[in-house]
Amino acid sequence: MAIKLPIYMDYHATTPVDQRVVETMLPYFHEKFGNAASRNHSFGWTAEEAVENARAQIASLINASPKEIIFTSGATESNNLAIKGAAEMYREKGNHIITQVIEHKAVLDTCKRLEKYGYEVTYLPVGKDGRIDLDDLRKAITNKTILISIMYANNEIGVIQPVQEIGKIAKEHGILFHSDAVQALGKIPIDVQKDNLDMISLTAHKLYGPKGCGALYVRRRNPRVQLSAQIDGGGHERGMRSGTLNVPGIVGFGKAAELCQQEMATESARLSGLRDRLKDAIFGKLDEVYINGSMTHRLPHNINISFAFVEGESLLMGINDIAVSSGSACTSATLEPSYVLKALGVGEDLAHTSIRFGLGRFNTLEEVDYVSSRVIEVVERLRELSPLYEMAKEGIDLSKLNWKTAAEH
Ligand SMILES: *Cc1c(COP(=O)(O)O)cnc(C)c1O
Repeated sequence: MAIKLPIYMDYHATTPVDQRVVETMLPYFHEKFGNAASRNHSFGWTAEEAVENARAQIASLINASPKEIIFTSGATESNNLAIKGAAEMYREKGNHIITQVIEHKAVLDTCKRLEKYGYEVTYLPVGKDGRIDLDDLRKAITNKTILISIMYANNEIGVIQPVQEIGKIAKEHGILFHSDAVQALGKIPIDVQKDNLDMISLTAHKLYGPKGCGALYVRRRNPRVQLSAQIDGGGHERGMRSGTLNVPGIVGFGKAAELCQQEMATESARLSGLRDRLKDAIFGKLDEVYINGSMTHRLPHNINISFAFVEGESLLMGINDIAVSSGSACTSATLEPSYVLKALGVGEDLAHTSIRFGLGRFNTLEEVDYVSSRVIEVVERLRELSPLYEMAKEGIDLSKLNWKTAAEH
């Protein structure tokens, strides 16, 4: 089979909408266009029925009840609603929130804003494996702690946090537990009962659904979580999130969730096989390559690798027919190393040479083999031009190097 370029291997950033999802959505743009809040006619009822069906499909994927699903515009909004909504609602009880340093910006920046309003936030560190230490969590809890927000799985390194253990600790202390579960949803099983999750943020476009459509799971029993609405209006979504529902988007989200529930086991097995094939090919041919984050507690479709002794930008240029993300973030004019890799203790140089490979539903074995051979070829070529790599191979300890003699070497 001929390979079509460029190859998309950045499924943590977004996913294409599955054709089956597109087809399910289409009638809701024109023929069944009703407002789900219109109670007086069949156009409204049809839309409402479709929304309720989607709610059930999403709830089923996480073992929740449909009433516990609140639709939003995406996970950024869901994270804002969960954290700000709980902070406002439980202000009398306390003003302390616990999160961790490698959260998505939608959580970190929300917490930073709350700090401006007098809340105190503890940002737990992570180990080299990318996971928090449960003892750190226990020690951070005070009698003012109202919320723990720890992501299910990280979007850069794919590392899965000890969610069930965190849920247990939160419950023991009567503290609400919110998790940004965007990257885990539809990829690995999520069970809000088993994990004692009180709120989880979800979004459709990371699981083959449309962009701009998300949800927040909000527990209704044991405990009943209450949130202050952050968007006021007509009192939609049990008063927690006003605004006319994005019916086609929601229908697509529901269908995408249903497909993941049906196909997750086989799809994840296939993708972890492809991911391991990619990793084994790279590690079989190249030395001085490093995996970032735990390999055991990791999403099946993720690998994040640093390639020492190459220049990050040259590497990306060399493989520009492959869509991947790098360990550099362009903030204004400067190239900043990823804060996630930094938190893991990855040095700045190495962070700039890191690549996140995010595999997904439409990647083929041929594509994976193409990607590994391109990456190997480009890294080998760049290293041939690298005097540092040569010196390292000759056994010279670069950290002890006197740069004057190095130049003469
Ligand atoms: C993509 C992503 C988000 C943001 O979701 P949107 O629906 O795009 O707002 C939040 N958290 C994580 C972990 C993500 O990967």
